[in-house]
Amino acid sequence: MIHLRGITKQFGDYPALHGIDLDVAPGEFIALLGPSGSGKTTLLRIIAGLEFQDGGTVQLGGEDVSRMPVADRHVGFVFQHYALFRHMTVADNVAFGLSVRRGKHRMAKAARQARAEELLRLVQLEGLGSRYPGQLSGGQRQRVALARALAIEPRLLLLDEPFGALDAKVRKDLRRWLRDLHKQVGLTSIFVTHDQEEALELADRVVVMNKGRIEQIGAPDAVYMNPETPFVSHFVGETNRLPAQGLSGGGEIHFRPHEITLATDGAEALIVDNVFRKGAVWRAEGLLAGSGQFVELDLPSSGDAPRLGETIRFNPHRARMFTADGDQIQGEAR
Ligand code: ADP
Ligand code: MG
Repeated sequence: MIHLRGITKQFGDYPALHGIDLDVAPGEFIALLGPSGSGKTTLLRIIAGLEFQDGGTVQLGGEDVSRMPVADRHVGFVFQHYALFRHMTVADNVAFGLSVRRGKHRMAKAARQARAEELLRLVQLEGLGSRYPGQLSGGQRQRVALARALAIEPRLLLLDEPFGALDAKVRKDLRRWLRDLHKQVGLTSIFVTHDQEEALELADRVVVMNKGRIEQIGAPDAVYMNPETPFVSHFVGETNRLPAQGLSGGGEIHFRPHEITLATDGAEALIVDNVFRKGAVWRAEGLLAGSGQFVELDLPSSGDAPRLGETIRFNPHRARMFTADGDQIQGEAR
């Protein structure tokens, strides 16, 4: 469906993208996940044709669209602040993309209105077509924006932090809603977010970006369980770091707060400095005796909460090891 090869982009002397290769299969839901400034929006705009790459090619559905303008690419997009037309009703907003069509795609007004109604049903805003955007909540407005993007029957849907401006509860509801909608419609979609929870919950595959490069591509579970670089280990999920012993040139081992076994004579001893409930577990934080490294541990909450000042002995039972250059070393972590 989508093939990106060697996409590069500079803004002045600033290299925003360093040579991106990515393949997306038909019907896939991809999340581009990375911190602010990692190049996610730039890549999305290049796929849409809102921006042109300096080098590399963009293929959509077997066609090289590298130099094709946005209007011809047949791509739908929704942005965080993709303002609706305030003076147009919701239905007219949704039908907008249909009304500007020319030639054989031109639709009669009644057909456009019927299509808008159908789309409003799809985004669960049936009956609100005659309202104006100002009379809707933020979440409803983003669903109108989505209906408008879908109206042109795009071959690809691009979403750039579409829920970023909404509050946490609404975001979570819309996330579930979008996942169901994708199941129903099956449209190839790329969703940009800096929120790892959103990416892990929604996507078939997560593409982790950092400083204009792809760090890792994989299923959410694989990216979480087997991060291949220190950056991914840190950015996706919570990670503890300890210096790796006996590694020439230095390095570190990474393990999640839950990847530990309590021990009576463990290799590591945490002196508890802070304790709180984190869902189903106790989260204990503190410094390791000896190295003074800050570490977070999850402990079963069936027992009493750890006490401040208490020493918890543990061994990481699962960990990843990285060299100082960020290369992963396979095998026993310590
Ligand atoms: P993200 O969406 O991951 O936050 P962007 O793709 O928006 O990242 O930006 C990547 C980098 O490129 C940032 O450092 C940003 O400042 C820079 N950048 C993006 N667009 C422009 C532009 N039009 N002019 C100059 N620099 C830009
Ligand atoms: Mg962005």
